[in-house]
Amino acid sequence: MTADVASTRDYIALDERWSAHNYHPLPVVLTHGDGAWMTDVDGRRYLDFLAGYSALNFGHRHPDLIAAAKAQLDRLTLTGRAFHHDQFGLFCRELAELTGTEMVLPANSGAEAVESAVKIARKWAYQVKGVPDGAAEIIVAGANFHGRTTTIISFSTDPEARNEFGPFTPGFRVVPYGDIDALRSAVTGNSAAVLLEPIQGEAGVVVPPKGYLAEVRQLCDDTDTLFVADEVQSGLARTGATLALDHEGVRADLYALGKALGGGIMPVSAVVGRADVIGVLKPGEHGSTFGGNPLACAIGRAVVRLLATGEFQERSRELGAYAHSRLGELEGVAEVRGRGLWASVQVAEGRLAGRQVSEELAERGVLCKEYAGNLRVAPPLVITRAELDRGIDAIAEVLR
Ligand SMILES: *Cc1c(COP(=O)(O)O)cnc(C)c1O
Repeated sequence: MTADVASTRDYIALDERWSAHNYHPLPVVLTHGDGAWMTDVDGRRYLDFLAGYSALNFGHRHPDLIAAAKAQLDRLTLTGRAFHHDQFGLFCRELAELTGTEMVLPANSGAEAVESAVKIARKWAYQVKGVPDGAAEIIVAGANFHGRTTTIISFSTDPEARNEFGPFTPGFRVVPYGDIDALRSAVTGNSAAVLLEPIQGEAGVVVPPKGYLAEVRQLCDDTDTLFVADEVQSGLARTGATLALDHEGVRADLYALGKALGGGIMPVSAVVGRADVIGVLKPGEHGSTFGGNPLACAIGRAVVRLLATGEFQERSRELGAYAHSRLGELEGVAEVRGRGLWASVQVAEGRLAGRQVSEELAERGVLCKEYAGNLRVAPPLVITRAELDRGIDAIAEVLR
């Protein structure tokens, strides 16, 4: 802190003057985090009901994760992939074992993992499926969210994400989410992959119709097409299972993971899946300076250790069932969607709406995200039932 920057208003003015205006944050300036709580520059405490869009599944500064990061900071932080390091293979093996997969491609952001999966699927289509060069297609769902790179927004259906960012990357086909017949009609001999979120997070925690994901799997098997699951937000315990697809007993060929994989400390992502698919990449064909760095791998290994206990998956199931039932009974709530401790609350007509909802919640000490008449409830999975109740009580007051 410098003398001329002290108050909440000063900090916000600084951000507005010196940073790009691609976000519109709530007027709260945070300085500390601990478990499910955050503290602002005035010492006010807030319950975190967003958990960094699931990047904070284990809460702020989980002691095991901080200990792993500190130990690694004292040994080795970065090598580049020109050399081996002692955390790399262990991270890959442990993550593959946790997710029941065979091979791991480490990366940094979620978008980078999705981009990498797109490249792998295309390479596989040409080398293994025999698709004519340049003709591979990837089928995606409407209202998807897979990140913000130029290629990924090329297959977004959100005008805000796309407008005036063209020209767009070709090779994608969009079908309505949850409609197996539309998907069946879109698959051709040139289809490399179907890329889907098992539950659509940014679309409003949209759960597809029962049986849809198993039908997608069957369709992919029947047509020699890869099933790529984007579990960047749904994965790693958020829905009450290690992977959201686990609930359906469905396996994808490739999964994109991210967010929680970095333990709320740094960006860590990965593509995990079949060795015969990821194995199409040869030296020099793909890379990342920071992907799989020693610090990221040490933190990722500590995340995998937490997930291997099953404790967080169980907390999400139990607290999630409780939260869904309580939220569903609130006055002013039209619908609650989601799975585990991941809910989207649709506010009924005529109630407090828009940004005012999250502003009023912030005043009551709860930070969460409102979007298009919906309220996201996705606290860290370390939250206690009493803390959850406190947050839900605040929502009840605001919507009443
Ligand atoms: C957040 C998200 C991404 C992008 O992750 P970044 O780390 O922001 O690049 C991709 N897919 C899904 C489903 C996400 O929720």
